[in-house]
Amino acid sequence: MNCYHHEDRVAVGTCQVCGKALCKECAGKHTPCLCDECFDACQTTLAAAKAQAKKDAIIDTHAEFVGALLKGLLGAVGLTALFGLLGGGNIMRIAPMGIGFFFVPFGWAVLTYIEQWLPAFLMDGIVFLFYLVVKLMLSMFLGIPCFLYQIIKYIYKLVKRAKD
Ligand SMILES: [Zn+2]
Ligand SMILES: [Zn+2]
Repeated sequence: MNCYHHEDRVAVGTCQVCGKALCKECAGKHTPCLCDECFDACQTTLAAAKAQAKKDAIIDTHAEFVGALLKGLLGAVGLTALFGLLGGGNIMRIAPMGIGFFFVPFGWAVLTYIEQWLPAFLMDGIVFLFYLVVKLMLSMFLGIPCFLYQIIKYIYKLVKRAKD
């Protein structure tokens, strides 16, 4: 059998994909052994897969940030409603607090994480209720840098994806 591209040369191998006979020169061009046509098709497929993966990663990055915003909004709306009800149903009066409550979920997550190193008596009985109030207030302030970190992470990821 002779080479598909060079009729005067003896074939030494075949394309791994389409099985075309290839001479020494043609067979040595690509690893694994592929004809030019299959190699090009392969590159096109790889490039398309890479472009798709990049698109997916950008969508994931947006989704992650939207998720963070929703978490904050849920904290703002939920806690405003809760404290409005506890305070006699006047939700509008404490509505400005909603801005602070927006940051609570971010700070709350960090404080929950460090609870494992806190003394056990804090997690029990009446002290625990006191601790929850302190945790809520701390969450509001700690949540601000935590949320800023989310924004920075979001922008950093988008810039990095755009460069890739
Ligand atoms: Zn081929
Ligand atoms: Zn050849």
